[in-house]
Amino acid sequence: MLFDYDLFVIGGGSGGVRAARMAAGTGARVAIAEEFRFGGTCVIRGCVPKKLLVYGSRFPLEFEDAKGFGWTIEGASFDWATLRDNVQREVARLSVIYEGVLERAGVERFHSRAVLEGPHIVRLLAENRTVTAKTILVATGSWPFIPHIHGREHIISSNEAFTLDTLPRSIAIVGGGYIGLEFAGIFHGLGVDVTVIYRGDRILRGFDEDLRIGLTEAMQAQGIHMLPNKYLARIEESAGEKLIVFEDGSELRVGCVMYATGRIPLTDNMGLMEAGVKLGLEGEILVDRYSRSSVETIYAVGDVTDRLNLTPVAIDEAMRFVDTVFRDKPTPVDHTFVPTAVFSYPELATVGLTEAQAREQFAEIDIYKASFRPMKYVLAQRHERMLMKLIVDTRSDRVLGCHIMGPDAAEMAQILAIPLRLGVKKADFDATMALHPSIAEELVTMREKWVPSAN
Ligand code: FAD
Repeated sequence: MLFDYDLFVIGGGSGGVRAARMAAGTGARVAIAEEFRFGGTCVIRGCVPKKLLVYGSRFPLEFEDAKGFGWTIEGASFDWATLRDNVQREVARLSVIYEGVLERAGVERFHSRAVLEGPHIVRLLAENRTVTAKTILVATGSWPFIPHIHGREHIISSNEAFTLDTLPRSIAIVGGGYIGLEFAGIFHGLGVDVTVIYRGDRILRGFDEDLRIGLTEAMQAQGIHMLPNKYLARIEESAGEKLIVFEDGSELRVGCVMYATGRIPLTDNMGLMEAGVKLGLEGEILVDRYSRSSVETIYAVGDVTDRLNLTPVAIDEAMRFVDTVFRDKPTPVDHTFVPTAVFSYPELATVGLTEAQAREQFAEIDIYKASFRPMKYVLAQRHERMLMKLIVDTRSDRVLGCHIMGPDAAEMAQILAIPLRLGVKKADFDATMALHPSIAEELVTMREKWVPSAN
């Protein structure tokens, strides 16, 4: 059978764009459909604009710290519209670059929603026609999940947070995951009164306990209100403000309510089930280690598969898909030792196993911890502490995980991911010369095993 394309990609985000470009590079005839803007979540409403807002929100801290170093900064003022518009300009620039990359790679582009009509057939809704492809890759990503609650129309998600007309006086952020905490840091830094509301005892489920506790305490110390174990009953609007009523009857009045309560895979009304593609409980496309779905000709990568929802992971899954299908080099995706960061204030970053995971998987582990005040903070009279933690398998001496809270944590975790993947031993850390004075030197100077206190 002759097909219009060798590969049709649905979704022009991190995973889709990389797969389309790389597959075209092998000589395959490739097309891609994007219903919104090329670049996807990361570029348009995720990592990139988020990190730019994080940078913008940190200046007040720098101004504050500068005093201890003899600087007087007078007349500093902030204009949200300038930051917002500059960020959006950068987002638009990057989106154009993404499309240009596809064009130069010879990928045919459709600005259209695309749905499946069979194992080889895609319908382009904007053009009201179908095309055929030997292989189809679904890379449609995910979307913020907002539960059904009375007053839902008063809620924003991270999507809207980037383009607010004005900054609210106060904001309630519902959800203790990384997106909520990053926005808590951004809004707090920009002078908004922030309350973080979450359902459990602790924020950041899945992260190492020391980081979860450390970040909560650090955020509280900055004046961010942390409300654990709270359930919202309804949200009302009165006099331009939002009134949150909790299930326990207590109330909170804020200027804005943002939900960051997880994301769901974008698989609705896509013709997936009709084409025979099996979905999981959250609607995610179930795939094997090579990203192949239950239909032989249909693959899926990125957030829509809900494996590890990060941009570099979506990109890696895309490249392994191209190796497998277009380079005759079947390569499974390796989801171990993926470094990840939370760009909260303070920043967190981690690679490898948490202490709890290591205790489950290994007979005996050693823990090394360091908690100290970074040198810069002493003159600045800032009382925040840096936290570092290494998890080591006692038997083999292999370093299983590393968890960091404080300045440049993300930069350190990225570099540490290399030796950890390669099976580095604690003895290798010990044998490595320190770089002085630096924060990272503490990683190679931790000698004392941490012993839990008796109480
Ligand atoms: P996406 O990038 O979401 O791309 C999917 C694309 O498909 C979209 O452009 C969508 O418009 C399009 N689409 C959907 N359905 C159709 C259809 N039927 N037809 C045509 N087009 C369609 N990750 C990190 O690694 N680091 C971070 O710091 C980070 N920060 C984040 C901050 C926020 C606020 C958010 C929301 C996410 C963040 N992420 C971060 C996660 C990261 O953005 C995602 O993991 C990544 O974008 C997933 O890529 P993807 O290709 O699977 O999907």
